[in-house]
Amino acid sequence: MKPFFVYLLRCADGAYYCGQTDDIDARMQQHDAGKIGFTSTRKPVELVWQGEFETRVAAIAFEQRIKGWSRAKKEALIAGDWCRVSELARSESGERSLDGPQEGPFDSAQDRLRPAQPERVLVAGVLGSDPHAQRRAIAKAITLLESTRAEHRQQADELLNALLPHTGKSFRLGISGVPGVGKSTFIEALGLFLIAQGHRVAVLAVDPSSSVSGGSILGDKTRMERLSADERAFIRPSPAGGTLGGVAAKTREAMLVCEAAGYGVVIVETVGVGQSETAVAGMTDMFVLLQLPNAGDDLQAIKRGVMELADLVVINKADLDEAAATRARAQITSALRLFGQQGHPHHARHDRSLWHPLVLQLSALRGTGLAEFWGHVSHFRELQRASGRAAARPYLISLSSSATAASSC
Ligand code: GDP
Repeated sequence: MKPFFVYLLRCADGAYYCGQTDDIDARMQQHDAGKIGFTSTRKPVELVWQGEFETRVAAIAFEQRIKGWSRAKKEALIAGDWCRVSELARSESGERSLDGPQEGPFDSAQDRLRPAQPERVLVAGVLGSDPHAQRRAIAKAITLLESTRAEHRQQADELLNALLPHTGKSFRLGISGVPGVGKSTFIEALGLFLIAQGHRVAVLAVDPSSSVSGGSILGDKTRMERLSADERAFIRPSPAGGTLGGVAAKTREAMLVCEAAGYGVVIVETVGVGQSETAVAGMTDMFVLLQLPNAGDDLQAIKRGVMELADLVVINKADLDEAAATRARAQITSALRLFGQQGHPHHARHDRSLWHPLVLQLSALRGTGLAEFWGHVSHFRELQRASGRAAARPYLISLSSSATAASSC
C-alpha cells in the first residue's frame, strides 16, 4: 500500500516547515520550485526529517501535532531521539506522555512510524537548489556511499537509483600527474576559470594511498582554498583506505551524485603513478596528463601506460623554463605519435580519424594557457558528441554492473 508522509523542512531563517503528502518526491520538487511553502519571510531549504504512515488520517493527525511542537521537540525528532521527544512531551503541558521510540505519538494502533529514510532526505537535498544545503547533502550522500555497513549499502543503492535519472549531463574530466606537478594548482585555476564562464565544478580524488603519499590530500585545507570557498564548486577528498577497485567504484558513484546535483564539469584527480589512471580514464570522458617541462628529457621516467591513456598532455610550469617546455612538447608529441602507430589497445579510446592526443604547455600558477586548454577540451567534447561516443558511457548502462566494472579496473 502506498504510504503517506509527514515531513519537516528547515527554512532559510532556521524555522521548520511541516507538511504531509502521498508523493514525497513530487512534493519536494514543488517546494524546490517555490510553488509551496514560500512566503516573503520563509524559504524552505532542506528536507531534514520524514516519517511514513499507513493512512492519510494518521499522517494529517501527526502533522497537526508536530505543528504545535516546540523547536526543541522538533529537533529531537529530527535527531531520531525519541526518548528526548517523550521527555519534552512529559514536561510540556497538554501533551500526553509517550511510551518510547517504537510507539511514538500515534493515535491509532495500526499506524506506526516506520524508520525515516535518510536516503530520501539526501536525494531531496542533492537535487535541491539551495547551494549550501546542496553541498552538505552531496557530502553526506558520498559518505553514505563510502560506508561499508550493510544497511548503509542498501540506502546507498536506493539513493543512487533515485539520482540516476538526473545524471548523464556532465562532462567528466580525468586529471593525472605525479605529486608536485601542479595538479591542485591547475585544477583550482581551471575550476575558477570555468566558474567565471558560468559552469559549476566538482572535484573528486581517487587514490586510496593519498593520505600517505601526500599527493592528493584534497582535504588539506591549503589545497584549492579559493575554489572550495566558492559555492559553485564542490571538492571531495579521496575516500580513506580501501582497495583501488573499491575506491574507484566509490568515485564512480560519487561522480553520479555530483552529476545529479547539476555540476556541469566533474573533475576526477589521480596521482599519475599507478593503476588508478586506467580506472579514471575508463570512467571519464577525457583523460589529461600533467607533465613537467623536463619530462621530455627523460621519457623513460614517464609511465608509458599512463601516457598512452592521455587524450591530452599538459606541460605545466612552462613559466619556469619556456625552452624546456617547448622541447618537452615536441618530444612527447612524437612519443604519442609512436604509441599510436604501434596500435596500443588503449588507443582504441582515440578514434584516430577524429582525434590525435595533443600536447599543450601552460602555467597553472599564472593561469596562462587555460583558455586554449579549455578550447581543445570543448573541441574534443564536440567530436565525442558528434560521434555518439559520450552516449556510450559504460557505467551508465547499469548501476548494478558498477561493482563488476570497478573490480575489473
Ligand atoms: P600537486 O601535488 O600535483 O597537486 O601539485 P601542486 O599544485 O600542489 O603544486 C606543487 C608546487 O608547484 C606548488 O608549490 C605550486 O605553487 C607549484 N606550481 C604549480 N603550478 C605551477 C606553475 O605553473 N608554475 C610554477 N612556477 N609553479 C607551479
